[in-house]
Amino acid sequence: MATASTSHIDHDAIIIGAGFAGIYAVHKLRDELGLDVLAFDAAGGVGGTWYWNRYPGARVDIESVHYSYSFDEQLQQEWHWTEKFCGQAEILAYLNHVADRFDVRRSVRFNTRVTGVTWDDAETVWTVTTDRGESYRSRYVISGAGTLSVPKQPDFPGVDDFAGEVYLTGNWPHEDLAFAGKRVGVIGVGSSGIQAISELAKTAGHLTVFQRTPNYATPIGNAPTDPGEQARNKANYRAIRDASRRHFLGLPYTEVQPSALAVSPEERRKVFEDRWERGGFRLFIDSFADILFDKAANDTVADYIRERIRERVTDPATAALLAPKGYPYGTKRPPLETDYYEAYNRDTVDLVDVKANRIDRVTPRGVRLADGTEHELDCLVLATGFDACTGPLLAMNITGRNGRALAEHWADGPQTYLGLMAAGFPNLFMITGPQSPSVLYNMPLAIEDHIDFLAEAIIYLRENDLDVIEPTVGAEREWVAHTNELAQATLLPDSPTSWYMGNNIPGKPRRVLVYLGGAPAYRAKCDEVVAGNYDGFDLTASRTLAAAA
Ligand code: NAP
Repeated sequence: MATASTSHIDHDAIIIGAGFAGIYAVHKLRDELGLDVLAFDAAGGVGGTWYWNRYPGARVDIESVHYSYSFDEQLQQEWHWTEKFCGQAEILAYLNHVADRFDVRRSVRFNTRVTGVTWDDAETVWTVTTDRGESYRSRYVISGAGTLSVPKQPDFPGVDDFAGEVYLTGNWPHEDLAFAGKRVGVIGVGSSGIQAISELAKTAGHLTVFQRTPNYATPIGNAPTDPGEQARNKANYRAIRDASRRHFLGLPYTEVQPSALAVSPEERRKVFEDRWERGGFRLFIDSFADILFDKAANDTVADYIRERIRERVTDPATAALLAPKGYPYGTKRPPLETDYYEAYNRDTVDLVDVKANRIDRVTPRGVRLADGTEHELDCLVLATGFDACTGPLLAMNITGRNGRALAEHWADGPQTYLGLMAAGFPNLFMITGPQSPSVLYNMPLAIEDHIDFLAEAIIYLRENDLDVIEPTVGAEREWVAHTNELAQATLLPDSPTSWYMGNNIPGKPRRVLVYLGGAPAYRAKCDEVVAGNYDGFDLTASRTLAAAA
């Protein structure tokens, strides 16, 4: 299909990214709506997060049966996951399969990074420029650039001086790397660091872990796929997906109890033990509903986790260092692990406290701490995180109405309506954008919901001889206030450094980056907006469309 006047546009929609979001957006808009679409990805293939994050141990931490597309019944019936929580290679194979199945690649320019996205008020079009020096004009721009795709720049100097090899978990080389016999250092103990450390400890000649803030890591509970369970899941997939979409985090869990404080210590412990053994996010999200809201409730689970850590680590001083304290469980994104704590029982693994003795710099020989101690290394792994949620959007140099940059609009933190669009940036959709449930909603479902919403909006516009949608300033202001209020009701602001709050990046405004009302409340709000004929949005016609009418 083409819009009413195509003389000045190259494509109806430009899609940025070819991960979970970009793949589905191409299929939905091109194959279902009949739009002329073009997608770009800086990578050499599809996969997004799962293309870049190839570090040893990279693995999904939501059960694969749930962390997958739901939009095509045949696809979910035919795909077989070999494990409960699959590794990176298998998820990438799945995304390649989906791209083949829906012939997505013919609409994607790979190895092409978007460097500018500029709105033309007079023409009502976006101009998208790339690092190949090309530019394309389109009516709609859909960002599927991800939430955790721009690695944090190291906030200590000297990385370029290091004489050994430096690897970034978020941009890991494609070739096989050998760590046997080498002195390896890992900086960072978030989800990426914890997964990488557990694997690297098995092969490295010596592993030094530089830990600033210990994490509340709990068992993932991975296992090979049980054929009986798989058959049951496939037979009930529709009901499972429905239940997932009704759940706070987008998982079909149903056993959460109201309050950790409303039961006896014995009953509480029984629940914690059950969820700990069953693994995944059950302890976090399917034990007691007040864990993220009530400090006293949170203390009960935090104590429980600390106790379990101490049981698993032989050396009491190392165990004490690994036990998180001073911030509530769940206010930093909880990592899931396999044999992480046992890694520290190996003679070849050392834990270094860089909170007490901070990293001064990387030297040609290794890592030097503030007190002058130098740890000599052959390889340095940076698992230092991402400029989350806003970073991928700001990296594209987006300029909206009246030449106003998104960076200016967001100088004090993100301003969005529904975490999907921003006032002054018409026809720009940010899939799983800041202030949407995004990372607190099973990502493939969050992505599908956003793309379905924007596709429906484009159909609505088309049916009403319109082609421009933009949130009102008032709707945006209310949404920002609402998301901030929701965050204030939780313990999240109590975390000293958490990318949920943007405060893992020096100088980044400390604002909540995710919607904390849960997926069902968010979905209900979106339904209400649609039922109100896109309540909170201005819908208009571009000059070309009006002239053609
Ligand atoms: P992260 O959670 O932000 O962890 C970064 C780590 O680097 C933290 O331990 C941080 O310490 C440390 N760090 C940063 N700067 C430092 C410095 N100057 N000195 C010492 N330590 C420093 O990042 P991530 O591990 O890459 O995870 C980010 C998110 O990606 C996760 O929360 C998750 O949502 C997603 N992820 C998911 C999976 C999965 O299983 N599906 C796997 C990996 C990642 P502080 O805490 O003290 O700041």
